[in-house]
Amino acid sequence: MQPYGHFIGGREVPAKESFEDLNPYTGDIFSLAARGDADDANAAVEAAREAFPIWSQLPPAEREKVMLNAADLLEENLELLREIIIDESGSTITKARGEVLYSASLMRAAAGESRRLYGETFPNDKPHRLSMVIREPMGVIAAISPFNAPLSLLVKMIAFALAAGNSVVSKPSEETPVVAVEFAKILHQAGVTPGAYNVVTGFGSDLGGALVEHPQVNGIAFTGSTSTGVRIAQSAVKSMKRMQMELGGKNPLIVLKDVDIEKAAEIAAVGAFFHGGQICMSSARIIVEEEIARPFAEALAKKAASLPLGDLRDPKTAYGPVINQRSLDKIQAHVDSARAEGAEILSGGEVHHGLVFKPTVIWEPPRTCAAWCEETFGPVTAIVSAKDFDEAIEIANESDYGLSAGILTNDMQRGLSAARRIHCGAVHIGMHSFQSDAMAPVGGIGMSGFGRSGGHYSVEHFTELKWISMELGETPNPF
Ligand code: NAP
Repeated sequence: MQPYGHFIGGREVPAKESFEDLNPYTGDIFSLAARGDADDANAAVEAAREAFPIWSQLPPAEREKVMLNAADLLEENLELLREIIIDESGSTITKARGEVLYSASLMRAAAGESRRLYGETFPNDKPHRLSMVIREPMGVIAAISPFNAPLSLLVKMIAFALAAGNSVVSKPSEETPVVAVEFAKILHQAGVTPGAYNVVTGFGSDLGGALVEHPQVNGIAFTGSTSTGVRIAQSAVKSMKRMQMELGGKNPLIVLKDVDIEKAAEIAAVGAFFHGGQICMSSARIIVEEEIARPFAEALAKKAASLPLGDLRDPKTAYGPVINQRSLDKIQAHVDSARAEGAEILSGGEVHHGLVFKPTVIWEPPRTCAAWCEETFGPVTAIVSAKDFDEAIEIANESDYGLSAGILTNDMQRGLSAARRIHCGAVHIGMHSFQSDAMAPVGGIGMSGFGRSGGHYSVEHFTELKWISMELGETPNPF
C-alpha cells in the first residue's frame, strides 16, 4: 500500500512516518496516511506565507476562475471522492455524493465572493479629508476540520478564505486524511498558486500547537468539538489570532400540537438520524407539546426501528457506523445512564453490528442526564413533553449550546415567535435543525462557538478592515 503524503507547496510531500487510516465499517486498513509533526506544520506555514503575496495579488477574476475550475473538477471527480468518503468515514453513498456536490456548490459560491471585497468611504468631520475603508486578506489561515463531513466542512472553511486572498494550511481529522489530500490535488489542478493551499495530516496533539501558535499564522478556522475548541482558543489567544469557532451542539426540535404526527415524525427522523446523528446540528433534543407527545414519540420510534442499516453503497441505507470505538462507547454510556435514571428506551439502545448503533429514541429522560445535556454525536434522540408553547421554548433554551434549532408547526406566527426567542445561531421553521446553505451564516452562540461561515460572512471573518484617510486641502493644525 503506497502511503499518502502531505500536500505542501503545490506537491505531495512524502511522509516521514505513517499511520493506519481505518475503514470504520469493515475495520480494515483503508490507507496509510502521513503522520505530521511540528516540522511539517512549519513547512506548510512557510509555503503558505511565500504564496500569500502572489495569491492575494492575483486579479479577483483569476481567483474566481480557479475556484470555478475547482468546482467543475470536484464534480468530475465525484466517484473518486465519494468512494473515499464512504470508506474513510463510514458515510452512506447518498451522504458521500451529497457532500461532493455541496462542496462544488460551496466553491462556486466562494468564487463569486472573490470580486466582492467591498470597501466604503465615509464623511470625515475634518474639512478636506477623505476617509475610506478597504478590506484586505489576513494572511495565513490554519483550518482545522472534523471527521463527520470530511470534504464539505473542510471546503466550507477554506473556500471563502482563499477567495478573499488568504493562503491556507489545512489540518483534517486524523480519521479522514486521504480525502483532504485528494482535494488538495484537485485544487492544485484547478490552478491555485502553489503553496496557497496546503494540507498536513496527522494527529491534533502532534500538529495542533505548531499551527495554532505559529507566529506566521494570522487566523484560525476551527470546526470540531467544544472541548478541543476551548483548548485551541486558549492557545491561539496568546498571539491574538482571529478565530472562527464552529463547535458542538445539542439542538432542540420543538413539535407543536397542530402538526400531522406522522409527517412530523418523518422530519424528526431525518434530523436525528442523518449520518447516524454525527452532525453538529442534529435534532438531539425533541420537545413536544404534551397533547401529542406520546403518539409522536411512538411514531418516531416506529420510524426509527424501520430504518435500513447495512451496505453503505445501497442508496436505501439510512446511515453507517460511528467513527470509532470511543465514540460508540460514549453513545452506549449516554443511553445506559438515561435508562438507569428512569428514562424509557422506545427503540434501539444497543449496537446493531460493528460500529453501527441502532436508531434510538429515549422517552422523558431527566433533563439533567448526559443524553439530554451533552453532545452524544450518535443516532440517539431524546423526547420530553412540554405543557405548552412557552414551556417548550424555556426547555429549548436550557442548554449551554446554541447552534441550531427547528420548530414544526403550521402556525407561522408561533414559528416565527419561536425563531426569535430560541437562543442559537439558526432556527428553521417547518424543518428539523440540520440545514445547510452555502450563503448562510452558519455558527453558534454559547458553547457552540463564535464567528459565522458561509457566503460573505466568511469573507468578513477572514479579512481585515483598514481605514485610509487622505488630506485633500488644508485642515488647520492645532500647533
Ligand atoms: P474534535 O475531536 O474536536 O477534532 C476536530 C479537529 O481538531 C480534528 O482535526 C482534530 O485532530 C483536531 N484537534 C484535536 N486536538 C487538537 C489540538 N490540540 N490542536 C489542534 N487541533 C486539534 O472533533 P471531531 O470529533 O473530529 O468532530 C466532531 C465534533 O465537531 C462534534 O463536537 C461536532 O458537533 C463538531 N462539529 C461542529 C460543526 C459546526 O459547524 N459547528 C460542524 C461539524 C462538526 P485529530 O482528529 O487528530 O484529533
